[in-house]
Amino acid sequence: MKHNGLYCRSHGISEYLVINFHGFELHLPTLMLLTLVVNLMIGCYLAMVYLLRRHDKSFLLWSIACFVFVAGAGAAGARTYIDQPLITYLLADLLLLVSPALVVTGLVLFLRGQLSARSRQQVVLLLTLYVLPLSILHQVNNASTALTSFSIAVIFIYAIVLLKKARLKPKFPVFVLQTFFAVHAALMLLQVVLVLPIIGEDYRAFSLPSLQWVLLGHVLLTIGTGFMLPLLSFSHTENQLMRLAELDDLTQLLNRREFLKRANLTLLHSRHQQHSVVVLMIDLDHFKQINDKWGHAIGDLALKKVADLLKVGLRTSDLIGRLGGEEFAVLMPNTSAEQAGLIGQRLCERIAHHAWEIEARPVKLTVSVGGASCVGALRDLKELLADADDALYQAKAEGRNRIVFGSDLS
Ligand code: GH3
Ligand code: MG
Ligand code: MG
Repeated sequence: MKHNGLYCRSHGISEYLVINFHGFELHLPTLMLLTLVVNLMIGCYLAMVYLLRRHDKSFLLWSIACFVFVAGAGAAGARTYIDQPLITYLLADLLLLVSPALVVTGLVLFLRGQLSARSRQQVVLLLTLYVLPLSILHQVNNASTALTSFSIAVIFIYAIVLLKKARLKPKFPVFVLQTFFAVHAALMLLQVVLVLPIIGEDYRAFSLPSLQWVLLGHVLLTIGTGFMLPLLSFSHTENQLMRLAELDDLTQLLNRREFLKRANLTLLHSRHQQHSVVVLMIDLDHFKQINDKWGHAIGDLALKKVADLLKVGLRTSDLIGRLGGEEFAVLMPNTSAEQAGLIGQRLCERIAHHAWEIEARPVKLTVSVGGASCVGALRDLKELLADADDALYQAKAEGRNRIVFGSDLS
């Protein structure tokens, strides 16, 4: 064992424990102590979040990752003071690797909702692949550090790919976390490069200023990651809840409440701009018969298909909502009645001539459309919707599969 001399203060070890940058000094043991305290606090915070959201085990794993990091960093920090390589090298390195592994396992759990048997097997396999060489390398000074740093870099690179594939929204916390992982992976690889020449040498060789800066970066990034993980989870969950609150589940169009809210805002905006606005009410013809003939499930698929055809047939600036049942509404800003008439006519034709086949059933579908427009957006939404509804009623009365405009068509 060659860990002698490092725990002996009389050898003047303290001078190796100060980062000196142009006179700016950082006392490493103090820094490490602060890091441990901050990580303990983050670990407790994540554990509290887990207690409030027990369904989300990723917070439990992230919390444990913080505690494991504290234990690992504590054990590694003890190298200077005690000569117990099994604890200060073997166990410390193992814990320092398990911590990011738990972070990534938590990420997988967060993204997929569960850990498949395959994922568990992969974790066990990777840990075995790491532990086997570690059990030999920990006997050579600094060799296990190189192996651990390299393995941590691989884990972080995997985390970057995992987040990229997940396409989470909003993107900002994902981007920050990926940046942290990328810088962290780069630092760990730099550590490998710096440690390789001092493999076999005693611990004081590890006090190279460059390695101490790497250590500083390592602890800061660990703290940053601890802060970013909850932000990633909360912002993503909020985004999903907003979608659930704003969109209709079946068609993924705006639901009634959100359509009315956004339509009112668009109307206000159009009034400022003195633009013409058109409202269309769209209702499926004889839809009850489709349900009766083919069943409710086929009816649902037909509603979905109509919604898709509306999305394709209208402009991105148009607001489309499902007001309820088999009834849709569209608000077209900056559009004249003539333009809307043409668009509505095209919609009717597109839906009527669509090659309707739902689960091998030849479903036949048409829609009737009622429109109302106003120049300068000077009327309120309620009136416009009521006029469009009257026009829709007229379109039904005139034989369906057509568009009729309300009285103020000019
Ligand atoms: P009209 O041409 O006069 O509009 O006739 P219609 O049969 O379409 O109108 P009616 O109001 O008589 O019936 C509407 C039907 O739409 C009845 C209801 O079962 C069906 N419906 C409403 N919401 C849904 C839904 O979410 N899924 C399915 N499959 N059917 C729905
Ligand atoms: Mg109908
Ligand atoms: Mg209806």
